[in-house]
Amino acid sequence: MIQFTKLRLSGFKSFVDATELLIEPGMTGVVGPNGCGKSNLIEALRWVMGETSARQMRGGEMDDVIFGGTSGRPSRNVAEVLVALDNTSRTAPPQYDMDEVEVIRRIERGQGSSYRVNGREIRARDVQLLFADAATGARSSGLVSQGRVGALINAKPSERRGLLEEAAGISGLYSRRHEAELR
Ligand code: ATP
Ligand code: MG
Repeated sequence: MIQFTKLRLSGFKSFVDATELLIEPGMTGVVGPNGCGKSNLIEALRWVMGETSARQMRGGEMDDVIFGGTSGRPSRNVAEVLVALDNTSRTAPPQYDMDEVEVIRRIERGQGSSYRVNGREIRARDVQLLFADAATGARSSGLVSQGRVGALINAKPSERRGLLEEAAGISGLYSRRHEAELR
């Protein structure tokens, strides 16, 4: 399983100033009052791993992840999230033959997203493949967003089927990683 070691946000949702969080081995908890940004942190993780749906980010369009301003602070035009992975046991695909892998996603208003891994620009698909593991990835069933458990319990069978199909999308990514490894 991939071990995250660091998350850095800048201009992302409510995290207008650069904010760096070290993620130690073991369990990490985030506590704080309503609206302080706990869910935004999880969304940052989902986003840097290649999430393509603005709805999954609770927005109407992807630019909505960029800090939109408050009464005291003007909006930004760029949002950036960095996640660092401990790859000393080489859990990442073989082309990432380095002890630390740093993935950065950046979005500029009206310009879309770009990704870098250890400074080198790569495609969105490569980032998705890097995280295409049942335990991680933007669409991993390991990331359960707020209200989702209740929604699953109350869902109609057809809606539950939709969720299962979403889970099946993960297995699709998994097989593409397998295919990438064979190349
Ligand atoms: P709860 O305990 O209620 O679940 P939370 O800690 O999960 O709260 P979040 O949902 O992460 O809180 O954060 C919500 C806050 O983030 C709101 O105040 C909202 O205005 C702010 N926010 C979201 N998107 C942006 C944005 N693009 N620009 C500025 N602020 C934003
Ligand atoms: Mg929340």
